[in-house]
Amino acid sequence: MRAIVDQDTCTACGLCIDMCPDVFQEAPDGNAIAIEGDVPSEFEELARDAADQCPVEAISIDE
Ligand code: SF4
Repeated sequence: MRAIVDQDTCTACGLCIDMCPDVFQEAPDGNAIAIEGDVPSEFEELARDAADQCPVEAISIDE
């Protein structure tokens, strides 16, 4: 699976970066960006949880 952060929707709250720093990182503008390519299987559940908890639903998961 892949994770994608909609840069127009992200409010740079940092929640996903705190929850799952192996998948989500802070871009220079403060927004979150997801790692390129497939999410390592050991982080899939955490990445899904972060997507569920993003307050503005900016994270989409591509299975
Ligand atoms: S939880 Fe959502 S709004 Fe907050 S930094 Fe992550 S993608 Fe952006």
